[in-house]
Amino acid sequence: MITTDILIIGAGPVGLFTVFEAGLLKLRCHLIDSLAEPGGQCAEIYPKKPIYDIPGFPEVLAGDLISNLMKQIEPFQPTFTLGESAVTIDETEDNQYIVTTDKGTKHKAPIVAIAGGLGVFTPRKPPISNINDFEDKGIKYIVKNPEDFRNQKVVISGGGDSALDWTIYFADQLNCDVTLVHRSQNFRAHNDSVQKAMDMAAQGKINLLLDSEVVGLNGSEKLEEVIIKTKAGEMIEKVDSWLPLFGLTPKLGPIAEWGLEIEKGAIKVDNATDYTTNRPGIYAIGDVNTYPGKLKLILCGFHEATIMCQSAFARIYPDKKNVLKYTTVNGVNGF
Ligand SMILES: Cc1cc2nc3c(=O)[nH]c(=O)nc-3n(C[C@H](O)[C@H](O)[C@H](O)COP(=O)(O)OP(=O)(O)OC[C@H]3O[C@@H](n4cnc5c(N)ncnc54)[C@H](O)[C@@H]3O)c2cc1C
Repeated sequence: MITTDILIIGAGPVGLFTVFEAGLLKLRCHLIDSLAEPGGQCAEIYPKKPIYDIPGFPEVLAGDLISNLMKQIEPFQPTFTLGESAVTIDETEDNQYIVTTDKGTKHKAPIVAIAGGLGVFTPRKPPISNINDFEDKGIKYIVKNPEDFRNQKVVISGGGDSALDWTIYFADQLNCDVTLVHRSQNFRAHNDSVQKAMDMAAQGKINLLLDSEVVGLNGSEKLEEVIIKTKAGEMIEKVDSWLPLFGLTPKLGPIAEWGLEIEKGAIKVDNATDYTTNRPGIYAIGDVNTYPGKLKLILCGFHEATIMCQSAFARIYPDKKNVLKYTTVNGVNGF
C-alpha cells in the first residue's frame, strides 16, 4: 500500500503544480496517471506548440512547461504510479481514502486531489476493421513529435483545428508531401487556418480532397497504402503515415462512479471556498472541475491547486496554524 498526504489523480500541469504548493506546506504527494509520462494534455497532445498565457513566460512550448514543472517540484520528491488508471475509491474508518488502479495498486491518503483533466484520453477512431493493426505502425492519433514525420508522405484526415494546423505545419516546416482528406466542404477550424490551407492547395503545396474519406488500409509489417473514397470513386495513395485527427473523446471514466456531483461531464466543486467536491477530503482542480465562470486554462488550474492545498493542510492538521509565507522570504525547502 502506497501512503501519502495528498494523492493526486492526474499528472497534468495542474497535478504537477499541486506538488509544489503542497510541498511548501510540508505535505507529501503521490501522483497516479494512466499515461506512461507526466504532462497531461501538454505532453500528450501538443508538446511542441507554444503557449502564450502562462504568467511570466511570453512564450513557452507546452513540453518545456512540463519539464520546468518537473524541475520545480524536484525538491519535494513526488512519487508516481504511471501507466495505471485510478478506478475505485473506498473510505476507511479513520477518514482516509484508498484508491485502487486498474492494475490493482493501492494508495492510501487523507486527501485526494482529482486533477484528471479531460479524463483518460480516448481518440475517436474511424470505423475501419484493421485500423488496430497499424496503430504506431504508420497510424498516429496524436502528433507528439512532429520531427518524426519530416520528409514523409502523410495523409491527414479531419476538418478541425488539429487537422488543419498539422497539415500547414507539416507542409511548411517539415518538407512533407501532405494530403488533407475531409468528409465535407465545411471545416470546424479557425477561418485563418482554413484560408491558409485553401491557399496552399491552390499553390500546389498540399493536396486537398474534400467530400472524401479514408475507407481502407493496406500494409504488411506497417501501413503502406490508404484507400480514399472520393466523389469520383476510390483511389489508392501510398503513405508513410496516416493521421486520423477526429479529436479525443473526454471520458471521465470510473471517477464518474465515485459519488461525486457531476455536471456535463465535469466534477462540481465549491469555488467560493476551496474547490472541494461534495465528499469531504476529495477536491477537484484543473480542467476536470466545474463551477460558475469556470475557465479551462492552465493558470486557473494553478490557482485552484494553491487554494486547495491550504484547505488540505487545515484538514490534515486541524490544530496547527498555517501562516502564509512568501517563497522570496522562506525559499523552497524540500524534504
Ligand atoms: C491543443 C491545445 C492547446 C491548448 N492551449 C492552451 C493555452 O494556450 N493556454 C492554456 O492555459 N491552456 C491551453 N490548453 C488547455 C490546457 O492544456 C488544459 O487546461 C490543461 O492541460 C489542464 O491541465 P490538467 O492538469 O487539469 O489536466 P490534463 O492536462 O488533461 O491532465 C490530466 C491527466 O489526468 C490523467 N487522468 C485522468 N483520469 C485518470 C484516471 N482515472 N486515472 C489516472 N490518470 C487519469 C490523464 O491521463 C492526464 O494525464 C490547450 C489544450 C489543447 C488540447
